[in-house]
Amino acid sequence: MKAAVLTEIGKPVTIQDVAKPSPAAGQVLIRVEACGVCHSDVHLADGDWDLLRPITKTPLILGHEAAGVVAELGEGVTGSRVGDRVGVPWLHWSCGECEFCLEGRETLCIKQKVTGCMVDGGFAEYMLAPATHASPLPSSLSAAEAAPLLCAGLTVYKAMKASGVRPGQRIAVFGAGGLGHLAIQIARAMGAHAGAVDVSDDKLEFAKSQGAEWTINSTTEQVHKKCRQMGGMHVAMVTAAHPSAYETALRCLRRGGTLAVVGMANEPFKVSAVSLVSGETRIVASAVGTREDLRELFAMVEKYPIRCTIETRPLDQVTQVFEELKRGQVRGRVVLTM
Ligand SMILES: [Zn+2]
Ligand SMILES: [Zn+2]
Repeated sequence: MKAAVLTEIGKPVTIQDVAKPSPAAGQVLIRVEACGVCHSDVHLADGDWDLLRPITKTPLILGHEAAGVVAELGEGVTGSRVGDRVGVPWLHWSCGECEFCLEGRETLCIKQKVTGCMVDGGFAEYMLAPATHASPLPSSLSAAEAAPLLCAGLTVYKAMKASGVRPGQRIAVFGAGGLGHLAIQIARAMGAHAGAVDVSDDKLEFAKSQGAEWTINSTTEQVHKKCRQMGGMHVAMVTAAHPSAYETALRCLRRGGTLAVVGMANEPFKVSAVSLVSGETRIVASAVGTREDLRELFAMVEKYPIRCTIETRPLDQVTQVFEELKRGQVRGRVVLTM
């Protein structure tokens, strides 16, 4: 089968002909139809994150937004059938037994396996997944439409949930890229008022087209002043990866507001304990989501017109797509089709 393979961290991904995997007990073989390209794929390939570099296997097939159809069942699989439409997210497998799994927080599982990092992912014609962790896709979405929801959509949905977003609240989304434009749509679907902050007028226009009720360009406008004029934000969600975005976001909150940390800046950001305490500010960090979060998101997508803006490209363009992501040229999400 054809696959995009990372042979060594720091080297470019290449298209190769590799053996089609066969499902072990408890696994399903999935014929991948589409797989979204996440910025994390670029960071994994380049070895940018100290936390993940040691657990990234090589050779590796990247991709953790895989959507396809069950093609074959491993021994003992009863919950899936050949022909089922399924998606495979970042959380490839969780143990179900550790204290975090028992608390319903499987994204913190101490034995978890990560798709397209510790095990082969979806930049290939076929992939394996535990039957228990291959999630049914919403019938209203094509594979290419569903794929980006498996990481980008899930990540912002779970962060909104963790931030306690309620109808009528004011939300500022920092960064209007792949995560940000979904965050705006999801916040609106939750009944909140959402706006976008970015450094690019182009991306802000894009945010408006996705339902942003207001936009602020942080290079030319005083973000915190404008946010305070609106009464301050209940939640400021940072999907951008620059430390200054977090510092600005904190200043935009109303008293009792929540900073939601989603984007991963490599550099630390400064926080004043005095303003945290006096404003009773909460800082909530959120990584991907559980299977239950994904079920909730898919149910929401069936009810509200939440759609990721996608551009589909053939698998062999993976290296060009990585370059475009690095240069910040991707609007919404690029989805590779097999
Ligand atoms: Zn991702
Ligand atoms: Zn566990």
